[in-house]
Amino acid sequence: MRPFAIVNIIFVIALLGADVLYLNGVVAWWWLLIIIAVYLHILVLGAIFIRWNFYVRSHHRATDTRAIALTFDDGPAEYTSAILDVLKAQNVHAAFFTIGKRASAQPAIVQRWHNDGHLIGNHSYHHGFHFDWKSSSAMLDEINQTNNTVKQLTGATPLLFRPPYGVTNPNVAKAVRLSGMQSVGWSLRSFDTKATSADALLNKILNKLKGGDVILLHDSMPVTAEILTELIVKAREKGFTFVRVDKLLGLQAYA
Ligand SMILES: [Zn+2]
Repeated sequence: MRPFAIVNIIFVIALLGADVLYLNGVVAWWWLLIIIAVYLHILVLGAIFIRWNFYVRSHHRATDTRAIALTFDDGPAEYTSAILDVLKAQNVHAAFFTIGKRASAQPAIVQRWHNDGHLIGNHSYHHGFHFDWKSSSAMLDEINQTNNTVKQLTGATPLLFRPPYGVTNPNVAKAVRLSGMQSVGWSLRSFDTKATSADALLNKILNKLKGGDVILLHDSMPVTAEILTELIVKAREKGFTFVRVDKLLGLQAYA
């Protein structure tokens, strides 16, 4: 049972209990409001924190290993080629969770991902700001559209999906289930999209890094391309090895 279902059961019991107590004059009416407010707050936090596995079970990290995985979201983007050059020079295989409309606009990058041995994951088709307000069937359409695009370009149909913004809800859960895909989150969020300096970003990642980590980065960010060589070299000096996220998590990459 997902935490969402457990929280729903607890909420109904708590609300009924408080209702009975209120009707018997034991507690004040605002206890009902407090219970509803706490419940709604938990639902929102469960949507934001993909690592809670609140609505969807996602894969976030491995244990008992010095292996780590690099994952890049939102490409093909402006710095994808530069990042691919670094990965090739350092002999690292990474994962790219692609936005389908960008994949169809830049087919050569998608083919290079595949030919260079990187994993291609699905990150929706439009990655619109309102993705999480869509119906599950509209979300499923986006997932299928991106899978079809990748399949046409590479012959491989992705099985790993990363929800846009890392936000999940009951509709995302249903779309993932119907698509037959596995949801992949992360254990180390670099916040590279908000980085103020290359040094700060590099040090933050290196200081937080633990064996088994899945690192979230973006190939749309110049600072990410800038620090990548040093990140790989320094992580290796600390004894970490780089593996592709599907191998790290023991998941099947393609159908
Ligand atoms: Zn994204």
